[in-house]
This record gives sequence, C-alpha cells and structure tokens, in this order.
Amino acid sequence: MADNALVRHFENRIPEMLEFAKELVEHESPSTDPQAVNRFSAFLRGVFEAEGATCEVFPGTDRGDNLKLTWGQGDKQVLVLCHMDTVWPVGEVARRPFRVEDGKVWGPGIYDMKAGFLYTLEAIRAIKQLGIKMNRKLVMVFNSDEEIGSTSSRALIEEEAKKSEFVLVLEPSVRGGGLKTSRKGQGTFSIQVTGVSAHSGSDPERGVSAIGELAHHILALHALTDFQTGTTVNVGVVSGGSRSNVVAARASAEVDVRVANASEAARVESALFGLKPTRSGISVNVTGGMVRPPMERSEGIARLFQQAKAFAAELGFELTESATGAGSDGNFTAALGVPTLDGLGAVGDGSHAIHEHMVIDAIPGRIALLVRLITEMG
Ligand SMILES: [Zn+2]
Repeated sequence: MADNALVRHFENRIPEMLEFAKELVEHESPSTDPQAVNRFSAFLRGVFEAEGATCEVFPGTDRGDNLKLTWGQGDKQVLVLCHMDTVWPVGEVARRPFRVEDGKVWGPGIYDMKAGFLYTLEAIRAIKQLGIKMNRKLVMVFNSDEEIGSTSSRALIEEEAKKSEFVLVLEPSVRGGGLKTSRKGQGTFSIQVTGVSAHSGSDPERGVSAIGELAHHILALHALTDFQTGTTVNVGVVSGGSRSNVVAARASAEVDVRVANASEAARVESALFGLKPTRSGISVNVTGGMVRPPMERSEGIARLFQQAKAFAAELGFELTESATGAGSDGNFTAALGVPTLDGLGAVGDGSHAIHEHMVIDAIPGRIALLVRLITEMG
C-alpha cells in the first residue's frame, strides 16, 4: 500500500534524521540571545536552500532574524510555522547533551520545537524524491521570538496566514500525540500601586498603604477566574514595601490571564483596566494586554482535523485532538479565521522541562501525515 510505503520511506531514514536532530539541538538558540538565534537561522537557511527553497530574511531589531522560505509553485499556498527560539540558555547542551536512549531523543529544545524543522525538511525531501504531486506552494515562517510573545514576527506570520488556505503549526503534540485544535488566549498585565509612606509607629494615620490597596485588588482579580468558561486570572508575582515599620508607598503585581474566547478576553481586560483606587491618596496604574488571542475551534479547524484524522488512520495510527491553556503562533492565524492545525510536531513530553524528549517510533507516521496534509488537503 502506498501509504505504508511512505511511512517505510521515513523509517529507513531514521539514522540520518537523528544526525540532523543532533545538529538542531547543538545550535543553541535562546530567544534572548539574537546572535545565537542568528547562527541557528543561518544554518537552517543553508539546509532549506539546498533543497530548493528561496529565503527572505526579516532582520530582528533586538531579536534574532525571522525567515520566510518558499518552496514549490502555485497560486495557492499552505503556511508552515516553526519557531527557532527555545527557553534554554547557551550552555544547556553541555549540561544535558543530545542523546538517544530508550527509543527517545533527548536534548534541550528537541520537543519544543526543533523537531519541527526535521519534520518539515524531511517532508520536502520526500515530496521531491518520491515525485509526489503538489498543487500549491509551501511557505514556511521560522521565527525567532515565539517563547517571548512573537512581537517581532507577528506581522509576518499574519501577513502570510492571510494568503494561505490553511496553516500547519509544528509545535509539539499534546502528551500522547494529540493535535491542538483550540488554545486559550493569553495576556500579561502589570499593576503599579502608589500610596503614601509614613512611620508605622508614630504617624500611621498619615500613611495610605499601597500593599493594603493591592491586596484588595488581588482578591477581586482572582474572583474573575471561572473554570467553567476556561478563564483564569493568576496574580503570579507581587512585591512592595520597604520595611516592616514603614507604611508601604509602593506595591506591584504581575498577572497572567488565560481565556477560551474573545468575549472573555474583553471582560477580563476591561476589569483590569477599570481598576480604581478604593481610598484617596492611592493611584493604580495598569499596563499590558492580551499577548495572544484565543484559538477557537472553528468549523474550518474541525474540518482540517477530520481530514488529518482520516489520513492518519490510512497511515496506521489514531489521531486525537485536545484543547490547551498554552498559546502558540497558531493563536494569531486562527484568530484571523484561517483554518489552523497545531501540535503537528514531535510526539514526546517535557516542554520547557529537563525531561524533554521525542519518541522515535512516532516520527515516520507523523512526517507522512505532514506530507499528506501539504500535498492532498482540500
Ligand atoms: Zn513551542
């Protein structure tokens, strides 16, 4: 059967793939180190250009460069998204070197999401080598700052998404291999409270405590959490005051917001920006906003998933879907109404954790799925 032949093609290439995976891991690329990210992007550019891709570089300012690669021809296009940056500092590979053990590949960034480059490269090579017909071009955006909010790459991602029939995001799968068909939106906010300092023993009535004020707002914000609708508001960091015998003149908080739909985003945002001082002498200033809109499971996404599930069944594995509270660049493209399938990358576990790994057995089927999505969808 042709599909099994496609899976077998990738099974036979596992040794070469593991060598490439090692190179991916060893090009360390923390979001906050533009030089390191650019060394990695130069490496990737060379590899994909060697397969016939054309590359446009969008220089980052205080971030690494973002790449747009185009492969193949056609009026229509499919967009593949992979982020080059990881959460790991340079030097992490020396502490936790790349290794293959127990049928798994271990190394910083392999699961989130360097495996995405391996999958995409192998898909292109197979389409070429096996002469698989393609009626659209493949556009790939490799960005440098996904882990820190994609502020320098968002415009490029959105521009290419608007030109695309659908978007494939090579972020890691959910544990067990499922795709991500909905993601919560995420926001980050800071609250600065200013009060009036005073000696807590001799002049306490002259003071207005910024800490007391902030405490009041923290409780109100936590009350916005509604597990039913999927909304969470977490005041994750607080600081303030100077000494125990001083009425605190300053206090601040950092808040993480997660929402499942746009109306909840609006509700929480307006509550945050509507915070008012409860006492005179106090000022409350809120900054920040929603970083990523929610990726809601639209009809287009559901249709894309059903097709992927059918392809997977033909390729010999069962594909499931789930929702996640974590965001990705798929949030941006889905929010534009472009059908987006996320979590197509590595099967494994341990995003942002030291047990990060990818399962080798799952690789051939997953790349075969990617090939079929790129060449046969719609
Ligand atoms: Zn990621």
